[in-house]
Amino acid sequence: MSKRIIAFFLAAAALCVFPVRFPAQEKAGKEPSHAKCAHCQKEKFVSVQAKNGAGKPVPLCYECAMLPRCEYCQLPSETVSGGGDRLCRDCAKDCIKENAEAEKVLKDVRQVLSTKFKMTTKHKIIYELGTRRELNLEADGEHNELGWFDPKTIRNKPQYTIRILTGLPRDVFRSVGAHELAHDWMSEELPHLMDKPEIREGFAEFVAWSFSKAEGNKRMMEYTEGRTDDVYGGGFRKVSAMMGEAKTAPEWKKILLKEYPLKGKKNGR
Ligand SMILES: [Zn+2]
Ligand SMILES: [Zn+2]
Ligand SMILES: [Zn+2]
Repeated sequence: MSKRIIAFFLAAAALCVFPVRFPAQEKAGKEPSHAKCAHCQKEKFVSVQAKNGAGKPVPLCYECAMLPRCEYCQLPSETVSGGGDRLCRDCAKDCIKENAEAEKVLKDVRQVLSTKFKMTTKHKIIYELGTRRELNLEADGEHNELGWFDPKTIRNKPQYTIRILTGLPRDVFRSVGAHELAHDWMSEELPHLMDKPEIREGFAEFVAWSFSKAEGNKRMMEYTEGRTDDVYGGGFRKVSAMMGEAKTAPEWKKILLKEYPLKGKKNGR
């Protein structure tokens, strides 16, 4: 066989294995040839390779499935946020890009944490949006930071700032806000744990996950559960396992204090 013929058969075989599923008709047991692509709305062969913000599978045609994807829900992306992330239509529609809006939403998240989980701090917090460059400069520059909790002492007075990446979809923004507010609470209630990265980030992820659960936000729960790195993902699993059935911040504090007592630290440090 000539190379051309082999290439033809390989291409034909590739088309055959291209996964074609029609979730709506699957139950009916029919084999339709076409369905509507959720992105371009054209009647075409479709496959399910993406989930929307609510975690529902979305059928896409071959061309649309090849487009760059939204950072947050895997749908084809048309825009790039101010923070440099690719966003799909749905996620771009409701993203946070004004400081005033960011402040309003974060105050609401702080209120929810206080009423639902008794996680409360009283001091003033400055809330603002930042670019990816600004956020990464503050961190080690190795991670793509979405948020930053920044406690400082200025003229002997503490000053707290929470900065979040501009242009995040609203539900992602709220979950990142809960994570940063967990740092704020920990820095006040359990300051000795702030220099243990696995516990600090694991606890903040656990709070963000609990918050997403309370909001019925499945995709952010899955996002947290799916993290694979040691500090955030490993920390989250470690802290979740520790917390068991405990549901409020005072109970979480008790459990953490039992595991990591304030006094009598190892090696006398
Ligand atoms: Zn399409
Ligand atoms: Zn999206
Ligand atoms: Zn953090």
